[in-house]
Amino acid sequence: MKTIVMKFGGTSVAGIQKLKNIVNIVSAEVKNHKVIVVLSAMAGETNKLQSYLDELGEQNSIESDLVLTSGEQVTIGLLSSLLKAQDIKSIPLLGWQIPIITDNNHEKAKILKIDKKRIEFYFENYDVIVLAGFQGINIEGNITSLGRGGSDTTAVAIASAIKAERCDIYTDVEGVYSTDPNIEKKAKKISKMSYEEMLEMASTGAKVLHTRSVELAMKNNLTLQVLSSLTKKTGTFIVDEKELIEKEIVSGVSYSDKEAKVTISGILDKPGISAQIFSLMTENNINVDMIVQNISQDGISANITFTINQKDYHLTKSVLEKSNNILNYKSLILDKNVAKISVIGMGMMSQSGVAEKMFKTLAKNAINILAISTSEIKISVLIDVKHTNIAVKSLHEVYNL
Ligand code: ADP
Ligand code: ASP
Ligand code: MG
Repeated sequence: MKTIVMKFGGTSVAGIQKLKNIVNIVSAEVKNHKVIVVLSAMAGETNKLQSYLDELGEQNSIESDLVLTSGEQVTIGLLSSLLKAQDIKSIPLLGWQIPIITDNNHEKAKILKIDKKRIEFYFENYDVIVLAGFQGINIEGNITSLGRGGSDTTAVAIASAIKAERCDIYTDVEGVYSTDPNIEKKAKKISKMSYEEMLEMASTGAKVLHTRSVELAMKNNLTLQVLSSLTKKTGTFIVDEKELIEKEIVSGVSYSDKEAKVTISGILDKPGISAQIFSLMTENNINVDMIVQNISQDGISANITFTINQKDYHLTKSVLEKSNNILNYKSLILDKNVAKISVIGMGMMSQSGVAEKMFKTLAKNAINILAISTSEIKISVLIDVKHTNIAVKSLHEVYNL
């Protein structure tokens, strides 16, 4: 019998009524499929757990991951109980019971291996496996988590491991839209898009899919469907670029207000200085995104600006402060009041003028650009966070999305 993977996010599992709705969706599939249901914690739960950890200053540790992953244990237990009550043979499993083996990077662990044999073994006696998303176990036997939003990645990883016929990601919107439908009511649902476009959208802030889930799907050529758990409508299919007949010049606008800007001024303008700064970031597992370097008028000193994830704000600050004996900069400024706005589209590769339109639109709205970065199919700008809504809405309009 063919196997399918169905993942349900936080709002789809928030309360018994919502879980009963999932029972209906799953029972329609059980007749002719073995089903792996991957669940998140109830909406708001992981945030609540995170706030306890913040109070203690506990992070990236055995303890923080043990706490963060606990919300999923509740939802899988409840759903499996509801399925059993409908005479569906179901077993709830935590990540370690498969096991989903990860590396040791607490709170951003990467999946290394999934044992398919255990899944086959469970399917000898059960029709549905209800699996906790977002979690794994490292070789030392400690529980790890995959990063916020990581249940999508659990679903794609398990679907790839068992070569599932389908991987459906159920959420609180009807698919992937031209921009966040909760910010712009005029946003349109995209029926089909490429892995590359979705990857750029996810990595620039469209949290509808976890970035690593898209990377994994692309690597394994696994078609994903994003759809709503409440309406029965067809969602958005994420597919190989070759399957797209018409390539939109711009297909979406995304934003992220989870960025922080770091400016180091008055460093010596000599070979190797950037290497020194960014080696420090790499050694501390801090991801750097946009980078701008200016040479000062005297030609001796330079300023460098880059962006990081807000989560790494304190770590970056302390690493750079401690290293001033080697870097010898004049000042260090970190700023959380920034947002990254991106426009994405496969058609950009063959069409000029997209950037010009973006910059003109921002200028018309008196929005100053702090940094720019581009890829073949994406242009991102950093702006003051207070302009986020107007930037998203005006760009959405100017590209006729
Ligand atoms: P889940 O809990 O189901 O994983 P998420 O909150 O992680 O759901 O992701 C769904 C949310 O992603 C939507 O409610 C929406 O606000 C947001 N979002 C951001 N950009 C987009 C986009 N381009 N298309 C659809 N949703 C988006
Ligand atoms: N519950 C986790 C989170 O809120 C994982 C997920 O929902 O994907 O980040
Ligand atoms: Mg999510």
